[in-house]
Amino acid sequence: MGQDDRFSKIVSHAKEYGFVFQSSEIYDGLSAVYDYGQAGVELKNNIKQFWWDAMVKMNENVVGLDSAIFMHPKVWKASGHVDAFNDPLIDNKDSQKRYRADVLIEEHMEKIYQKIQKEIKKAKKRFGDDFDEAQFVSTHPRVVKYQERIDTIRKRMVDALESENLQAVKQLIEDEEIVDPVSGTRNWTDVRQFNLMFDTKLGSLASDDNKIYLRPETAQGIFVNYLNVQKTGRQKLPFGIAQIGKAFRNEIVARQFIFRMREFEQMEMQFFVQPGTEKEWFKYWREKRMNWHKSLGFNMDLFRWHEHDKLAHYANAAYDIEFDFPFGFKELEGIHSRTNFDLTQHQSLSGKKIQYYDPEKEESYVPYVVETSIGLDRTFLMVMAAAYAEEKLEKETRVVMKIPAALAPYKVAILPLVKKDGLPDIAREIMDELKYDFNCYYEEKDSIGKRYRRQDAIGTPYCITVDHQTLEDKTVTLRERDSMKQERVAISELAGIIGEKVSMKHLLKQI
Ligand code: ATP
Repeated sequence: MGQDDRFSKIVSHAKEYGFVFQSSEIYDGLSAVYDYGQAGVELKNNIKQFWWDAMVKMNENVVGLDSAIFMHPKVWKASGHVDAFNDPLIDNKDSQKRYRADVLIEEHMEKIYQKIQKEIKKAKKRFGDDFDEAQFVSTHPRVVKYQERIDTIRKRMVDALESENLQAVKQLIEDEEIVDPVSGTRNWTDVRQFNLMFDTKLGSLASDDNKIYLRPETAQGIFVNYLNVQKTGRQKLPFGIAQIGKAFRNEIVARQFIFRMREFEQMEMQFFVQPGTEKEWFKYWREKRMNWHKSLGFNMDLFRWHEHDKLAHYANAAYDIEFDFPFGFKELEGIHSRTNFDLTQHQSLSGKKIQYYDPEKEESYVPYVVETSIGLDRTFLMVMAAAYAEEKLEKETRVVMKIPAALAPYKVAILPLVKKDGLPDIAREIMDELKYDFNCYYEEKDSIGKRYRRQDAIGTPYCITVDHQTLEDKTVTLRERDSMKQERVAISELAGIIGEKVSMKHLLKQI
């Protein structure tokens, strides 16, 4: 199955089984806005819960917050978003498609990088166990040339973006002969800057004085509440504030399903530390966050680190965790060392002192901040992409979503073999017992085989089948999703077995 093919299958699967719908679909949809259906909202809530527990429950010194989407407009002046939250855009005159110039260049570099990977793969096959990848990469003439080319392009891009030389960005696109993936031509417009914030008006007066923004990140809600939380929670440094909430960006290129949306959700944690200790905490949170992903049990070859070439205006170090989406490695999460930029800015624009009195050092200072920031929707897509599997069975192919049991929308499906002989009554009794602890799915339509397939497609870890033997000995068939193994289990044991498998505890313990 090709990657494009795989991606379109995941998108249609997401719709067919009630995970994700296009927003306002009956009106032909709204571009880059999506709704989560009956299975999707459960998966999404479970991801949120897993992140929240990993942050707030597992760390004594991390607390939660739920700040408003609307904030004082000066917040965005202070944070730099009014002046600098821009993306360089470029249009292709033939296809009339709009692109982010930096993304076009990055994708071009990725293509060259893939050529290197191909060479490595070939050589690995040829040399077998004796293969020394580091040596090969540093000496093989073609690979060295590719790497030099990537380095040169990256340097030119970073220099051009940092000096905001948009003409140089365009020149680079021209020199590299980058073509529009749609029209295949190089008929580009100039590169322009575009601010990504949505604005609206507060109250009934439509004047520019009451212009406010839909927040483009949740982090600022944390910064402006730093003092409130620190004082009322009697927090000592280091401590963190975690928040999950909606953010809005008027993205130029809003394709690739829920990867890049105009309305999305972020899960962010700002960790406030003593100046000078930020590098150490940066390392600590990088490790913690990678462990969070690892605990889900997916193939770790799908994840990689990427160090930022161009640092945002607030950062002194930044790494992304990238995931190998069906359209290539892309950012899933950012871990940033944000210095004291934001708090200092808010201090000077608000005129309020935002400092921490350090009782040990007997001095006051503005804390430094290490941030972890992950898109909830991107995590959702990561889980869908990593979990989607097509398996050849004897007579058919099954699509199974191997979603980690703790995140699965439904934990167990309860299926009476037939709709008579009192089997549905027992099934209902079992459901009435289990529903307090687990999200259950009850179904009595269709053959048992079809019902198993449907649960596989939603990713339900367990199916319970109630049959005639149940009437005699109070046992049921418990079928496990991944192995498809079936075993006979007493009804009284069900809660224990299922609870053990679907508990988030096992994941949290690995972080
Ligand atoms: P990108 O380079 O992909 O635009 P970014 O570097 O601007 O992302 P951040 O500002 O660091 O992203 O936001 C933190 C996280 O929020 C990202 O890692 C991503 O998971 C998520 N995110 C950002 N923009 C979007 C979006 N438009 N749709 C969905 N998720 C997003």
